[in-house]
Amino acid sequence: MAILALSLLSSAAGWALMEARGQSSAVLRGVFGLNLVFHPVMYVVVWRRLLPTRYIDMACLLFAAGICAACMALRLYAPVYGASIDLQPLYLWIPVIYVFAFTLAGHKTSLTISLCILALFVAISLPYLLSQDPPPYANFTVQLHMVSAVLIAALYFFSSYQHRFQIALLTVDELARLANTDELTKLANRRRMAEAIGSELVRFTRYGHAFSVILIDIDHFKTINDRFGHAVGDQALVALAARATEVLRDVDMLGRWGGEEFIVVLPETAFEQAMHKAAGLCRHVAATPLVGEHTISVSCGVVRVRAGDTAETLLQRADVALYAAKHGGRNRAEGMDDGPPAA
Ligand code: GH3
Ligand code: MG
Ligand code: MG
Repeated sequence: MAILALSLLSSAAGWALMEARGQSSAVLRGVFGLNLVFHPVMYVVVWRRLLPTRYIDMACLLFAAGICAACMALRLYAPVYGASIDLQPLYLWIPVIYVFAFTLAGHKTSLTISLCILALFVAISLPYLLSQDPPPYANFTVQLHMVSAVLIAALYFFSSYQHRFQIALLTVDELARLANTDELTKLANRRRMAEAIGSELVRFTRYGHAFSVILIDIDHFKTINDRFGHAVGDQALVALAARATEVLRDVDMLGRWGGEEFIVVLPETAFEQAMHKAAGLCRHVAATPLVGEHTISVSCGVVRVRAGDTAETLLQRADVALYAAKHGGRNRAEGMDDGPPAA
């Protein structure tokens, strides 16, 4: 919209200037008049969203190239009508068309469009350049085509490098995602969860923000694999990941710790809240069948961070708590909240 408004204003100002200087002619009035009709029409098309943006951009590009080509043809072959057309500003506008073309599409499409436009200008000027007497604007016109060719080549190389750079950035993002994601469940993997525990430990040590951790292990998972096969076991892991997410807050981070063990990091969470959350999780998992008609259950070991904890000491306590939950009958949460008080 802003570009159209600017272009409309500059057209109107150019026309007014030519009229004031007495340099206008019927042909120039036609060109400027066409401009002043085209812009409001495009303005309405953009405003009412009558066409997709790429068609509007293409229409503007073709209109600009068409006007320049018509002016060039008039000036070179019909001096009577084209006398008032100054080739100098016209030849300055033509390279702008190529720059515009390279903002519209991918580098290959833009190259094709630009070469077609260049071919159009060369074709229009060729009979003039080949005429017997060296015509007055021959050198000027040849220079325009050479500059255009160099500019198109430069724009192509620039936009293809930009394209490659974007692909490289995407690859880096994808690699980072793969490095942190568990392929089966799409949850954070062990590496990412160890990182999350590390940063929560830093927050705890520096600012005293306590957090809790729940270690989850599926009960009798071997029998699921034995009875239904490994593939169904895999589906159960995916289903469990989805079901566990349902009872967690957005700030809680669930990840796959390995095999059929999962881990939850609960920031800003006291031990009692974490115990409550883990017991709710056990109930929620066991409430409805997860593998066909078969219901599965989980056991949870719950710990709250303590002063002097490292990731290892924290996870060791979580393991002990999980062991207690298994021995206490499974499908339950047990906690370890002993040791020195939190900082
Ligand atoms: P418990 O209640 O004591 O935890 O019994 P359990 O059968 O779950 O015992 P354990 O935790 O030792 O068994 C883990 C089983 O999980 C063994 C392994 O075959 C299975 N398992 C580990 N990773 C995967 C996996 O990615 N897919 C499938 N389908 N099974 C897995
Ligand atoms: Mg296990
Ligand atoms: Mg198990």
